[in-house]
Amino acid sequence: MSWQAELQAMGKMAANVPLAPRTTLGVGGEAAWLFRPSDKANLIAAMSMIPQDISLFPLGRGSNVLIADSGIDGLVLDLGGINTLMVEGETIKVGAGVRMSKLAQAAANHGLTGLEFMATVPGDLGGGVAMNAGAFRQQVSDVLLSVDVLHRDGRLTCISRDALDMRYRYTKLPQGALIVSATFKLETSDAEQIKTTMREMRSKRSDSQPLALPNCGSVFKNPEGDFAARLIESVGLKGEQRGKARISDVHANFIVNAGGASSEDVLHLIRLAKAEVKKQTNIDLEPEVKLVGCSL
Ligand SMILES: Cc1cc2nc3c(=O)[nH]c(=O)nc-3n(C[C@H](O)[C@H](O)[C@H](O)COP(=O)(O)OP(=O)(O)OC[C@H]3O[C@@H](n4cnc5c(N)ncnc54)[C@H](O)[C@@H]3O)c2cc1C
Repeated sequence: MSWQAELQAMGKMAANVPLAPRTTLGVGGEAAWLFRPSDKANLIAAMSMIPQDISLFPLGRGSNVLIADSGIDGLVLDLGGINTLMVEGETIKVGAGVRMSKLAQAAANHGLTGLEFMATVPGDLGGGVAMNAGAFRQQVSDVLLSVDVLHRDGRLTCISRDALDMRYRYTKLPQGALIVSATFKLETSDAEQIKTTMREMRSKRSDSQPLALPNCGSVFKNPEGDFAARLIESVGLKGEQRGKARISDVHANFIVNAGGASSEDVLHLIRLAKAEVKKQTNIDLEPEVKLVGCSL
């Protein structure tokens, strides 16, 4: 039996899967294969069946990726089936495929504070830990205790937060490691107050970000002491368009897909913003969005 047929028995396996609908920006080509294990046990079992020369790419909600128009010539993993969520006292252990907004809500329901910001970040837990997501002065690394990761050789290990060298939008994972679950240590607080804070954060978001059009959140990291949006605006690129991609008129660190943009259109605007900011301010902007199969 082929490895593809073996994986079929452990979840959902498909070939030539369009990835654009699996990203919030809505661009990018196809995955050669896409596998969605039905649960953690099947992911672990499947790992030993995937030939070593097949590259793996874990894709969460696709809210921080720019996938090339040529797609991904490998196996894309959808870990949405790994969705357990266990609360024990002030500790929450959660599967990689759980939406961060769902985790924030669960924490709030249990009167646990520390994850309110997740109500405003449209990703899955795995992507949130991999990116050390954060907002409103909170970030994953503030409350993370440890992650369980699955290595390419099939080993499952637990890595403590301190060994992950987490920084602003950065987590150091072992090469090829998949986040399977994460454990958080939160603090007890008033459930109604937590829910009010989440509502306020959401409404601040919808006032300041171009959420009506497909986008991938912040394109660049904020450089030390400044804001990428301010810099891009200052060099006159707010509203700049290429094909159907546009540097947002609302928030210059967002690129929006006005309908039918290609990955190349978006890349062109990223390169342009980076080059113009460098030329006019001598500041090097570093992409926050993960470029997959393409480069600057
Ligand atoms: C409207 C909007 C607002 C946003 N606001 C914020 C914000 O306030 N703060 C913020 O930090 N981000 C923000 N983002 C960006 C994005 O939501 C976060 O980076 C989020 O954590 C990405 O999660 P994801 O599941 O979408 O990951 P994906 O985009 O699917 O993947 C991102 C990276 O993580 C890797 N990855 C995903 N899952 C795993 C796994 N299980 N194991 C190992 N690696 C994995 C992927 O391979 C990829 O390299 C925003 C995005 C949008 C569209």
